[in-house]
Amino acid sequence: MKKIKEQHVPYNTGWSGELKQGQVIRITATTTVDFVCLKKENLKERFDQARTKVYNGKIFISKGDKLMGRNNQHMMTVVDDKAGEVMHDLQKGMCSGYRFQLAKKEGRLREYYHRDFKEEDIPDHGCYENLTNALKPYGIDPEDIPNPWNLNQHMIIDGKTGKMEHTHVRAKPGSYVDLRAEMNLVVALSACPDMPVGGKPVDVLIYEP
Ligand SMILES: [Zn+2]
Repeated sequence: MKKIKEQHVPYNTGWSGELKQGQVIRITATTTVDFVCLKKENLKERFDQARTKVYNGKIFISKGDKLMGRNNQHMMTVVDDKAGEVMHDLQKGMCSGYRFQLAKKEGRLREYYHRDFKEEDIPDHGCYENLTNALKPYGIDPEDIPNPWNLNQHMIIDGKTGKMEHTHVRAKPGSYVDLRAEMNLVVALSACPDMPVGGKPVDVLIYEP
């Protein structure tokens, strides 16, 4: 393995970087990570949650599955997944300052956040703002950031009604996911504040296998 880059991403911040085709990004985390990828040569070609679900025929993806673009391009392949019992969610969007404020206004904070929290614990920003900052150098407008692949978290979904329930299941220490770039890419991620359980920092390693 030839290390290209290592990066520590602190709690509730974002990061972006570049991968050449064939390079692998290892994301080591115990917290929710909102991850997106964009084609380097045409940043309009982006990760697409819906195409990814339909192509892989499932709503959680893992080792051997592919991250797809809007036009059904193979953007990345999950080459390893050491996250254990936790799955990686493709239903959610990004948490954000807007969402926290709306939940507060509607009196729904308890519904989202099962642990005890104080009003001042509610962050003023989340993954939306973190990914916005991370992708600013590439000229990506916040509204054009695709809905992410949410690593290290999943929901319980009732197959009949489609009702979704949040869970507290998260990856154990040392857990990581390896993703190989199938084209030259810009990738970005957010170390989610993960309000239901409390967010943690994330470690990134880019390497050539
Ligand atoms: Zn988040």
